Amino acid sequence: MNEPETMHKKINPARRHSYHRPKNISHSNKNIIGRTRHPLQAKRPPLRNEEKRGSSIPPIEKDIIRIIPFGGVEEVGKNMTAFEYGDDIIVVDAGIYFPGDETPGVDYVIPDTTYLEERKSKIRGLFITHAHLDHIGAIPYVQEKLGNPPIYARKLSAAFIQKRQSEFLHLPKLDMRIVEREEKIKVGSLTVSFFAVTHTIPEAMGLIIGTPHGNIIHSGDLKIDHKDGEPLSFEVEEFTKIGNENNLCLLTDSTNVDRPGFGFPEREVHENLRKIIKETKGRLIIGTFASLLERIIYIINTAEELGKKVVIDGRSMKVNIEIARELGLLKKGLKSIIPITEMENHPPENVIILATGAQGDAYAVLMRVANKQHKYIKINNHDTIILSSSIIPGNERGVQKLKDNLSRQGAKILHYAIADVHSSGHAYKDEAAWIIKMLNPKFFIPIHGYHYMLRVHKAIAESQGLSDKNIVIPDNGMIVEIDGQKQTISQLKKRAPAGIVMVDALGQGNVKDVVVRDRKALATDGMFVIVAVIDIKTGKVRKSPDIISRGFVYLKESQDLLNQTRLLVKKTTENAVGEMHPINFDYVKNSLRETIGKFLYQQTKKRPIILPVILEV
Ligand SMILES: [Zn+2]
Repeated sequence: MNEPETMHKKINPARRHSYHRPKNISHSNKNIIGRTRHPLQAKRPPLRNEEKRGSSIPPIEKDIIRIIPFGGVEEVGKNMTAFEYGDDIIVVDAGIYFPGDETPGVDYVIPDTTYLEERKSKIRGLFITHAHLDHIGAIPYVQEKLGNPPIYARKLSAAFIQKRQSEFLHLPKLDMRIVEREEKIKVGSLTVSFFAVTHTIPEAMGLIIGTPHGNIIHSGDLKIDHKDGEPLSFEVEEFTKIGNENNLCLLTDSTNVDRPGFGFPEREVHENLRKIIKETKGRLIIGTFASLLERIIYIINTAEELGKKVVIDGRSMKVNIEIARELGLLKKGLKSIIPITEMENHPPENVIILATGAQGDAYAVLMRVANKQHKYIKINNHDTIILSSSIIPGNERGVQKLKDNLSRQGAKILHYAIADVHSSGHAYKDEAAWIIKMLNPKFFIPIHGYHYMLRVHKAIAESQGLSDKNIVIPDNGMIVEIDGQKQTISQLKKRAPAGIVMVDALGQGNVKDVVVRDRKALATDGMFVIVAVIDIKTGKVRKSPDIISRGFVYLKESQDLLNQTRLLVKKTTENAVGEMHPINFDYVKNSLRETIGKFLYQQTKKRPIILPVILEV
């Protein structure tokens, strides 16, 4: 995906530090799970009837090209598609998806790769379109299962992949092959070449897979750079060149195709940001996604040019900028980036803070600033804050609270709805139509989007002259077959397994495993419910908090522990509430889980499941 936006869908950071896990399995053990073969690890969700494993799927026949999405359709995220011809399979992307409330305790969802594992001797390579996590995030989890095939990627994508891999110490070294733009790679009976596309991260690529029956184009995530709806000449040249080939099939990004017209071009976002950077009188704080690397690079280079100083805060932001720096994507000998501790040595109108957390994520920089809990950044009424992102569905309340708390402290806030300070990285309807018209494929498969988006994309393809019988709307695991001789497209009745595989600190499991894990934690360490009543006017905890526990310690005999815990609950709650108004309850609960969890573990060496209940009066 995708959407850098979705990349940052709010995950509850407390979950990773929560005390839900069985004793002796700490957060830092994440790295070694793959090796330890946790019993939960290898299990998969039950297969649908038609998804019987392995041999029930007939072997591929002569002149057939199989296309199988294992993720990225029926959803936005966990993109992965396989292309099979004769004895060869190539895989494009291996992404993750950030789960929502429906899967508590789960960090990521990755594609089900059973079909590929059963044919891993045929896999010739994993090709990467670009460095967003919904395209590369699953690599550490699937690469071994696929038999460690070579990974083909551009330099920046390779750097991001290696950086992520370095967090998984036990995994074997990747067979990374860096490719140049427009390089043509021969893999078995297929060829693959890369072409540049416009997205939100440098070196985003589409792929042209050459088969004896014509080209299959997989665009990756893309949009079209344009001026007032006229694609710029470099786009026209690129697409004209590719369009002149024999294009058998096109698979392309559906994320934004239900939005009318052309999207707002990033170039104009840059121009607007430049104007704001130049003209803002006080200190400027820019909150954005770390994955919007092109914009971040632009902001830093602009600051350098205008003689301003940039403070970078937030882990993902720092890591991404470091990679960009190493690869020379930022100007050489940069003087503008300064450590946060030196911020006070410069006049505020000369300082720009680049920060994470524009989605109201509980533990990201902006939320800590808003909650007055940031060590260095305190808001005053000369500050201007730009939220340079859209709001991911589901995060509206978090963002609202963020804006409330920041503006209450006097900051002026600019966001995408009142100024053009954000644009998405995915083609809108008219861009999608233009792409199909220029590439002129015989067959069309919409990908990267929920089912509805794929349907909308199909209608767009039909408006460009493709007929219904030449378009397949895929589901995850659907085996689409193009017959190169007969020039037809169809789908098999049998499907490849495409259940969701979840990843958490313990490795991989499925929903049931999560339940099992919680039950184990309950069985060994019990549960601990905290009920605190907050007076909304004063921010103070009323009365002594109530504590209910089961299976943890016998409370009647633990009065000291109980009293100390009550005091700590009161203090932690009041600290977390601070002067927040309105109160962000998720934040308060996370603080309680964290602090009380640590305290109870110190006192008892147990990690009960902690359930904070906050009531307001
Ligand atoms: Zn992307």
